Amino acid sequence: MNLDFDREHIWHPYTSMRDPLPVYPVKGASGTYIELETGVRLIDGMSSWWAAIHGYNHPVLNKAVERQLQNMSHVMFGGFTHAPALQLAERLVGMTPDSLQKVFFSDSGSVAVEVAIKMALQYHQAAGRPEKHRLLTVRSGYHGDTFAAMSVCDPVTGMHGLFSRVLPEQIFAEAPMCGFHEFCSDDCIEDVRQKFEKHHREIAAVILEPVVQGAGGMRFYSPDYLRKLRKLCELYGVLLIFDEIATGFARTGKMFALEHAGVVPDILCLGKALTGGYMTLAATLATDNVASVISGADPGVFMHGPTFMANPLACSVAVASIDLLSSMEWEHKIRNIEKRLAAGLQPCSKLCGVVDVRVLGAIGVVELERPVDMAAVQKLFVERGVWVRPFGKLVYLMPPYIVSDQELNTLTGAVCDVVAQTLFKNG
Ligand SMILES: *Cc1c(COP(=O)(O)O)cnc(C)c1O
Repeated sequence: MNLDFDREHIWHPYTSMRDPLPVYPVKGASGTYIELETGVRLIDGMSSWWAAIHGYNHPVLNKAVERQLQNMSHVMFGGFTHAPALQLAERLVGMTPDSLQKVFFSDSGSVAVEVAIKMALQYHQAAGRPEKHRLLTVRSGYHGDTFAAMSVCDPVTGMHGLFSRVLPEQIFAEAPMCGFHEFCSDDCIEDVRQKFEKHHREIAAVILEPVVQGAGGMRFYSPDYLRKLRKLCELYGVLLIFDEIATGFARTGKMFALEHAGVVPDILCLGKALTGGYMTLAATLATDNVASVISGADPGVFMHGPTFMANPLACSVAVASIDLLSSMEWEHKIRNIEKRLAAGLQPCSKLCGVVDVRVLGAIGVVELERPVDMAAVQKLFVERGVWVRPFGKLVYLMPPYIVSDQELNTLTGAVCDVVAQTLFKNG
């Protein structure tokens, strides 16, 4: 593989083109392992950013793609429909809360968020409340890299400074402070309540990640917070959007994180693990009410329609991935991963320079006082035969659900070693 060409011509995520961080050439991936060109095999601790829940090169998922490929890889969704889209929509409607009945397919998580935001704005517009055009969200959130999505990402770790001239200005409340196992006190919800009180006339929707804030800080918070938030939304005529692009499909120990709270949003965004990490696909689900209000006034249609909407290959593999998940004892599996992540990462919490160690479902996080040198730390992990990619002060694991106990031990052992080694060098 010509790495010079890569360095010279290809942009990698969030990377300088002058001085790019090193990248490791991958030859293949199978099960829990990613194999480098050099023949080195790495245990995957990242699920390729929350997506590859069943691991790589899975026979059942491969079969689904191969079978669909014999039929058609794609047809436009305007004027046509097809079995893969129908089957997937049936499953999504069946597995999410009853009131979410309408499914809009798109090509990536960020677009699913754009679609959700557009739905909320069109909803109020159609209902004769065009002044409701802003969004309320909480700090430390992450919702994607397109413009409307960026506008609701955390203003500090997101890209607000860079694009302040073009980003719509949204309303930010403090990030939820109540821990996962705690109740949400009136104090804890007070900042949000004030934002509602002050701005409700112009707020179309609240958007946030339920229970787990992912790329904005890997924070876990109380499900009770969401119950209080739902009440405020009702009181002030504001739609509730849950972004479950990271948390969906069992990652937090429930099929969807909203189940921790028993709260049903008006709009729900899904992506990432939707296709088991095989292909890019996302979905935005909405209630009958949202859909019917949008359809009830000029222009009478929802104004969105991506070229690759409901791509049949992606829908087929998504159906296979959901069926695979439903057929395994995922609750038991995730509980076991949770237990082993907690035990395996526990030694880190004693290290000076470690602020917090937290685990929920198949997510394990070690938060440090200071940011790590990503390239150096990545190299140490590769030397230990694992794939872990920290960002900032966070070193975290979210392995594929098929990970074995032995592999989990190797992953958590590597995190403890590397964190200790890095802190020792810093100190
Ligand atoms: C990754 C992510 C997105 C964006 O999804 P892309 O497919 O990368 O566009 C949005 N919201 C959350 C919570 C995410 O984790």
